Amino acid sequence: MMKIVMKFGGTSVGTGENIRHVADLVAQYAKNECRIAVVVSALAGVTNSLIEIACKAKRSDAKQIEAFTEGLREKHLQAVSTAISSKAIQKEVAQIIEKTIFELEKVLTGIAYIGELTPKSRDYVASFGERLSAPIVWGAIKDHKLETQWFTGKEAGIVTDSNFGEANPLMNFTSHLIRERISPLLEKGIIPVVTGFIAANQDGIVTTVGRGGSDYTATILGVALQVDEVWIWTDVDGIMTTDPKLVPSARMLPQLSYQEAAEMAIFGAKAMHPRALGPVSKENIPVRIRNTANPENPGTLITKEPKNDSKEVVKAVAMIKDVAMLNVYGAGMVGAPGSYAKVFDVLGKNNINVMMVSTAVSEANISMIIKRDLLGRAISNLEIALLERGGFVTEVSAEDDVAVIAVMGAHMKGTLGVASRIFSTVAKKGINIRMIAQGSSELNISFVVKEKDGIAVVKAIHEEFKLDKA
Ligand code: ADP
Ligand code: ASP
Ligand code: MG
Repeated sequence: MMKIVMKFGGTSVGTGENIRHVADLVAQYAKNECRIAVVVSALAGVTNSLIEIACKAKRSDAKQIEAFTEGLREKHLQAVSTAISSKAIQKEVAQIIEKTIFELEKVLTGIAYIGELTPKSRDYVASFGERLSAPIVWGAIKDHKLETQWFTGKEAGIVTDSNFGEANPLMNFTSHLIRERISPLLEKGIIPVVTGFIAANQDGIVTTVGRGGSDYTATILGVALQVDEVWIWTDVDGIMTTDPKLVPSARMLPQLSYQEAAEMAIFGAKAMHPRALGPVSKENIPVRIRNTANPENPGTLITKEPKNDSKEVVKAVAMIKDVAMLNVYGAGMVGAPGSYAKVFDVLGKNNINVMMVSTAVSEANISMIIKRDLLGRAISNLEIALLERGGFVTEVSAEDDVAVIAVMGAHMKGTLGVASRIFSTVAKKGINIRMIAQGSSELNISFVVKEKDGIAVVKAIHEEFKLDKA
C-alpha cells in the first residue's frame, strides 16, 4: 500500500468547486489502496489579503476591520456550501469558520488599539488563511464518507525556531511529534488534513515557514511519516522550462534532480518553496508536481538521480521580479582585507538576505541583489554604519527597476560557450546587462536587466535554446 502526502496549493482550493474536486481526487486515491495525508494552503489570494489588512490594521478603525472580516466570512461560507453536500457537515464546518473569523476580528482590533504590528502578530494574522481552508477540505473529504481528522500545523507537531515570517523547523523534534500524533491515524486509514504554512515555536506561539510554505509543510510531513512520495498539486502540469504565464510554449520537464529543482525554486520558479526540498532530498523521498486540473498527467518527478535525464545544457529560464540592485563604492576597499565582510555584516545584522553578488577586479565596488522592499532599510543602514564612520565606503547607490534572469541546467557544468551564447542573445535584442553572477556550482548563470526588458529576455533565451522542444 502506497503512502503519499498530497499538498493542495491556493489555486487548487480557490473556490468551493475546486475544493470539491480536490476531495474527489483524495477519495479516488484513498479508495485505491493509498494511505494519504493532506496538506492545504489558504484559498487563493487570502494570505495576501490577511498580510495587507494586518499592515493596515495599525491605522484602521472598527468599521474597516469588520468590512474585511465580513468579506472573508462570506467567501469561506460560500465555499462550504458549494464544496460539501451533507447539511450536517456543512453546519459543523460553518461553525468552525464563524469561530475562527470572530477570533481574527479580535486580533485585528487588538493590533489597531496597540497601533503596532510585530513579526509575531503578523504571523498570527497570516495563519488564519490556512485555519479557514483546512476545515472546508476536511468537510469535503468527510462528505465522501471517509474517515478524516484536521489539524493545525502546531497540533500536528510542527515545531520551529522563533524566526517569525521565515521560521525553521526543528526537524528531529518535529518528526518525533508527527510520528506520535499523525502516524497512528494513517495506519488506521484515517485521512489527516493539516494546515500548510503554519507551525509554532517551542513556547506554542504561532510561526509561519515563509511565503509559499505549504510545500515545506508537505515535505516535512513526508519525511516524518516516511512516505513513498510527496505530491504537490498545483495549477500547472509540473515544473516547466519557464513560467507558462510569460511564455505559453513553455514545456513541462518530466524529471529533475533535487539540486536542479531547488535551484529553480530559489530562482523564481514559483512552482515550489525554495527550502521545501531540503528535508526530502536527505531521505531520498521523491516529489511530484502535478496539476489538479489535469490529473492524468504524471507531472514532474523530482529525485536524486533522474532516469532518462536529458543532456541539454540549458533546461529552464526564470525571471525574478521585486528585486533591487545595491551598489557600494569606495576606493578604500581595494586590497583592504575584511572590507566586504563589513558590508555583509551590516546587511546580515539587519536581516537583509543578499541574493546575488558581483565584484570588479579593481575591487572598488560591490553590486548586490536584494528584495526590493528591503532596499530602503539596506541603504540607510549601510550609510549609517559605513559612510558616517569615515570608512572605506564613499558611496551607496541603488536601482529599484531591475529583474534577475536565471538560466539553469545541471549540464552547463564544464560546457564551454553557454554564457557567451546567452549574452549574445541578449545583446542581439539591444538589451543592456547590468550585472552578472555565476555560482561555482555552475548550475545556473544569472544576470540583471531592467525590469521592463525582463520578459523579452526570457522569451529570447527560451527560443535560442529551443526549450519548447523536447
Ligand atoms: P500554488 O497555489 O499551487 O502553491 P503557486 O502560485 O505557488 O501555486 O505556483 C504555481 C505557479 O508558478 C504557476 O501558476 C506558474 O505561473 C508559476 N511558475 C513560475 N515559474 C514556473 C515554472 N518554471 N514552472 C511551473 N510554474 C511556474
Ligand atoms: N498561504 C501561504 C502563502 O500564500 C502558503 C502557501 O500558499 O503555500 O504564502
Ligand atoms: Mg505555492
